[in-house]
Amino acid sequence: MKKIAVIGAGIAGTTTAYALLKKGHSVTIIDSRRYPAMATSYANGGQLSASNAETWNTTKNVISGIKWMFTPDAPLLFNPSPEIQKYKWMLGFLWATIKGEHKKNTLETIDIAKKAREIYFKIADEEGIEFELLKKGILRFYDNEKEFKLDKEKVSWLDQEGMEWDILTTDEVKEIEPAFENNKNYEKILGGIYTKSDASGDIHKFCTNLEKVLVEKYSATLQLKTTVEHITKQQDKLVLTMRHENEIINDSFDNVVVCAGVNTQNFANMLGDKMNIYPVKGYSVTIDLKDDISKQCAPTVSLIDQPVKIVASRLGDRFRVAGTAELAGINTDIRQDRIKPLLRWVEKYFPNVSTETYTPWAGLRPMTPNMMPITKESKTSGVYYHAGHGHLGWTLSAQTAQVVADKIDST
Ligand SMILES: Cc1cc2nc3c(=O)[nH]c(=O)nc-3n(C[C@H](O)[C@H](O)[C@H](O)COP(=O)(O)OP(=O)(O)OC[C@H]3O[C@@H](n4cnc5c(N)ncnc54)[C@H](O)[C@@H]3O)c2cc1C
Repeated sequence: MKKIAVIGAGIAGTTTAYALLKKGHSVTIIDSRRYPAMATSYANGGQLSASNAETWNTTKNVISGIKWMFTPDAPLLFNPSPEIQKYKWMLGFLWATIKGEHKKNTLETIDIAKKAREIYFKIADEEGIEFELLKKGILRFYDNEKEFKLDKEKVSWLDQEGMEWDILTTDEVKEIEPAFENNKNYEKILGGIYTKSDASGDIHKFCTNLEKVLVEKYSATLQLKTTVEHITKQQDKLVLTMRHENEIINDSFDNVVVCAGVNTQNFANMLGDKMNIYPVKGYSVTIDLKDDISKQCAPTVSLIDQPVKIVASRLGDRFRVAGTAELAGINTDIRQDRIKPLLRWVEKYFPNVSTETYTPWAGLRPMTPNMMPITKESKTSGVYYHAGHGHLGWTLSAQTAQVVADKIDST
């Protein structure tokens, strides 16, 4: 049995702790926040989506990105302020695009996503975790002929991973999700693509409910309001220097797994490891479905409006709508001009859903330039990274956590 510290109680840290505890190790989870999953794993789009596992490194996206820089309300917003990390990341993104690894990385991501989905379902069953899980698939829809055509053409290579990619007519879109209202906006929908094995659920509920199980059933230690400031190697032990309410604590471990989301880059800098994680900001609104009409009229199938890159998931009596990508550094300020398009989108397709009461949120996707998550060991032996899942941390973490736990177990 090893004594292992997991830094971060978001989805990456929670799933890592679970995988390690299942292997019989002693685990301490440390997070600087007062509660688990209060950073990016708080109010995301909710999708467990092998169907949305495509990496973004395409020439088309680079061209769209340049156009979007000059378009208000565009899915991508670029803040031109000078910041070395941002330009380093953008160059890395371009390089990954030029190398042409988009298809290979997408197929690998789909494979991880499918494995992760099964692990989540198993954890939910075995541990009795409630997180508004809906196994109703994910439906992409299109009101743009060019986008629809391009995505339909992907069937030929997505098939290699056994990816379900059912192409639907406009009528079939409504058969899958009857909540679409017959109005002029719905009539513009040209069709959709449906992945029936995908699912959706509340990442925050999953993390907080699983953390309870980790402590109560598997005897994990949860150290909150504690910030890890340094990791040093002393003989064969790893010593963490932590700050808890102005008190400095040192504790030693056999292994450390850094699952610190966008802060993982700071740990890599501290330990001299090569890493390129940038915070790509996104927004969500969580609408309270208070009245019966709103409850009836909000969709239950998780949706992707592909042309505008908005995702939506039903989470019990709430409806979550998320989107946008903003390159603006470590900054979680909520901008109304990024929230309004999400509310307008609800009104456009689901006009009977009241948006009177909603909670806006902004979070930072820990993103690598080629969109692939990191599960490697540091130059400081015994320290591992589990981070950089970008727009797919919820979708992928359960499987990548397993990869990290297997690596630790085999040393
Ligand atoms: C708008 C939006 C929509 C999204 N939609 C989806 C979706 O539909 N499906 C999907 O799969 N993914 C989605 N994502 C991505 C997903 O939410 C993230 O990839 C995931 O939550 C990242 O989890 P994490 O555990 O790596 O990081 P975090 O959740 O940020 O956790 C990191 C934790 O580390 C702690 N920490 C950091 N530094 C320290 C330190 N020094 N000491 C102690 N603790 C520390 C933090 O307090 C935090 O709790 C979305 C993201 C956004 C922003």
